[in-house]
Parts: sequence; C-alpha cells; structure tokens
Amino acid sequence: MENSNWFEEASRRIKDVLLLLGEKQAKKYKIDMLLRMVHHMDRFSKNGCKECENLKENLNDLILLLENQNEMDPKQYKATFKLVVKHFVKKHGLVEEGTYLSLGMAYGLIFGAALSSFYYMAIPLGMLFGLVIGLWMDDKMKKQGRVV
Ligand SMILES: [Zn+2]
Repeated sequence: MENSNWFEEASRRIKDVLLLLGEKQAKKYKIDMLLRMVHHMDRFSKNGCKECENLKENLNDLILLLENQNEMDPKQYKATFKLVVKHFVKKHGLVEEGTYLSLGMAYGLIFGAALSSFYYMAIPLGMLFGLVIGLWMDDKMKKQGRVV
C-alpha cells in the first residue's frame, strides 16, 4: 500500500465499519479512539518512527477483524489496542483519555484524607479540586492533540 495513502485508506475503512456496527458496538470497540490512533500513527511514521510504521500492520489487522465480524476475537483486539497505546505513551508522550481525571481524583482523595483530621470537609473538597484540575489537564492535552 502507498505510504501516503494509508491514512485515507484506513480511515475510510473504519468509517465503513462504523456504518456496519451499531452505536453500542462502536463504543465497545472504541472506534473513535481507533480513528485517532490511525491519525497519530500516520503523523508519527511520517516523522520517521519505525515502530509506528510497523504498527500500521497491526492496525490494518484490527480493521480487518472489524470488517469480518464473525471472526472477531475480543482478546486479540484488546491486545493490539494496548500495544499501540503503550507505544504512543512511551515514545510520543501521549496520554490516554481521562488519565488526568483519574489522577486528579486519586490525589484529591489522598490529600483530602491527610487533611481530614483538621477539616471535616477536606475529602470532598480535595476530590472536587482534583476533579477540576484533572478535567482541565485532560482538556489541555486534548487541545494539544496529545490524547490517544
Ligand atoms: Zn511511534
């Protein structure tokens, strides 16, 4: 397949698959995330990332799995997703959607609990604060195009 056409080809196939799947199925298989992955991968491989170039094959396989639904193996599907996300996070500094939200909530709870003997509202306030910061950070990452 021509290198420069991979992105268009892959996204066209995903959009066709989207028409086949119901909304529920599309959510289950994270089709919107798959589209973003194709987009990122195209960008990174054009910038010379060999691993992304190789991972394109894995995404092609995923799309093929979606196209032949009766042969779908959810385990294989998830494994490929994980593999690609891991590479994006490690090599390209991307974050998974909601990463900062869960981090913020966790830290909010920890700090809140630490301060709860001084102030009885510390836990809910800490979590609220964590929620706000987390959402803000996630939004910032999204705007920078750094969400997987
Ligand atoms: Zn890469």
